Order: sequence, then C-alpha cells, then structure tokens
Amino acid sequence: MAGVPCPSCKNPISLTLGFIIENPTSQCPHCGVVMKFKEDKELFDEYRQVMKDIEYIKKQHKGVTFGNQK
Ligand SMILES: [Zn+2]
Repeated sequence: MAGVPCPSCKNPISLTLGFIIENPTSQCPHCGVVMKFKEDKELFDEYRQVMKDIEYIKKQHKGVTFGNQK
C-alpha cells in the first residue's frame, strides 16, 4: 500500500496504514500538523485481519518469496 500525502500541506510522507496503526497520532515532518487516526477502528481491524491471513499463508508456504501483497 502506498503512503498518503499530508492532508494539510500535501507533501508526500511515508505514512502507510501499518505505520498509522502503530502510531495513531502522527506529526507531519514538513508542516508540523498533527494527524489523528483513531476514528478508523474498522479499517484497523480489517488491516490486522489481513496481516494475520498473510502470516498464516506464509507459514503454509515456507521458503516461498512473496511479491507485493494486495
Ligand atoms: Zn504537512
């Protein structure tokens, strides 16, 4: 998943869904705006489930190298 641009200054920041989940409150390095992502609980739950599924698949296919997961 590609990172999203800052909602305030539109500068590209490496803000991925995984990073947001780890850091629900993030600060833009360009303009300093603070972004809070706590609202997207359903999205987080979905993301966690997807990550679980990927881990499960990986365990079943040891030694197989995965490319970009969609
Ligand atoms: Zn910004």
